[in-house]
Amino acid sequence: MSTSYDAIVVGGGLLGSAVGYGLARQGLRCTILDEGDVAYRAARGNFGLVWVQSKGIGKPIYADWTMGSAERYPEFSTELLDRTGIDTSYSAPGGIHICLNDEEYEDRVEKMSTLTSHQNGRFKHEMLDRKAMLERLPALGPEVVGGSYSPHDGHVSPLYLMRSMQRAFVDLGGEIKNDNRVLDIQKSGDGFSVRTANENFSTARIVLAAGLGNKALAPMVGLEQPVRPVKGQIIVTERQAPFLDMPTTHARQTGEGTIMIGDSHEDIGFDIRSTPQVMQTIANRARRSFPVLSKAKIVRTWGALRVMTPDGLPIYDQSETMPGAFTAACHSGVTLAATHAMVYAKYVADGQLGRELEGLSVRRFDV
Ligand SMILES: Cc1cc2nc3c(=O)[nH]c(=O)nc-3n(C[C@H](O)[C@H](O)[C@H](O)COP(=O)(O)OP(=O)(O)OC[C@H]3O[C@@H](n4cnc5c(N)ncnc54)[C@H](O)[C@@H]3O)c2cc1C
Repeated sequence: MSTSYDAIVVGGGLLGSAVGYGLARQGLRCTILDEGDVAYRAARGNFGLVWVQSKGIGKPIYADWTMGSAERYPEFSTELLDRTGIDTSYSAPGGIHICLNDEEYEDRVEKMSTLTSHQNGRFKHEMLDRKAMLERLPALGPEVVGGSYSPHDGHVSPLYLMRSMQRAFVDLGGEIKNDNRVLDIQKSGDGFSVRTANENFSTARIVLAAGLGNKALAPMVGLEQPVRPVKGQIIVTERQAPFLDMPTTHARQTGEGTIMIGDSHEDIGFDIRSTPQVMQTIANRARRSFPVLSKAKIVRTWGALRVMTPDGLPIYDQSETMPGAFTAACHSGVTLAATHAMVYAKYVADGQLGRELEGLSVRRFDV
């Protein structure tokens, strides 16, 4: 016996929840199958930036896709609030990348100019000297030489974002089945049969959005997902009086007042421990940027694994050998949530990915 759906989404992280919500929003009868708490979950350990100014430098296709999501975010978060009553704390006051020396500043000038050139003026930013930076962020320390500001950037509470998408999904008739690790996917008639440890399902469409789990799942539908884990460590301080009006690449003040500090990258496999050396490095940068943090007490730290592709860009595919099967993986699932729900899910429902995603197929790695 198997339960039958219009669509199954494998993976209930930020990507799967966004796609599931987007499918349910179009009236599809849908379930999300998730492995459960034993899995590595980027969605529960991230930094919460909706970030445009570092995405797709030298890769216009990714820059456009990211910008599209940031532009949809206000409508997306309002829609979630209206449907669920859950406030995701989304705000987009713009964002700042802080430079602590001239070399960092010059590097930033070059990166921002590349992003501007291939976005045909759509990407807005300002390079700020120290004086201009202090006007926006008066708490900056003496070592800050300048930085870049972009009005497109913002931040969100990633946990409330996920909760709101899942609540909206369920309210629209979707089902979330935890502790249902997908073990096998087979072509069956016009659709697929899906086997988990607990149940069997059948579906017309299937979307693999299982983060690092996609690597093992994609070959079951004739595709590949060469993803690997890249660890990020995060520090959370006790609540501070408001001093950081807009998010920065390395530190942001949450709606509750805590300061999140992050942006470390370690390519060391499936290891989620937080380590004193890395915490010291990211804490030092935050303290040099904002000396007020020298006295802040740390209340929590963690490590989590990014879902990284070989070139850092997302991968979206549809199977040629098993039509109706799709794969998706990215390391910016907070930023891209709006576009995954409002654009990508439409493509899945229509059975055809949009042409703008052709360059994001795994085929780009073919030699
Ligand atoms: C430290 C850190 C900071 C980050 N900061 C940001 C940020 O500021 N902004 C931003 O945009 N992005 C950020 N990200 C990235 C973002 O969190 C991810 O892109 C996002 O969570 C999407 O992940 P996902 O849903 O693909 O994967 P995950 O969240 O890892 O979810 C995958 C899900 O698939 C399930 N699964 C796996 N295998 C199976 C299987 N066989 N069957 C069923 N279910 C399965 C797991 O249970 C899991 O729930 C950050 C990530 C990290 C680690």
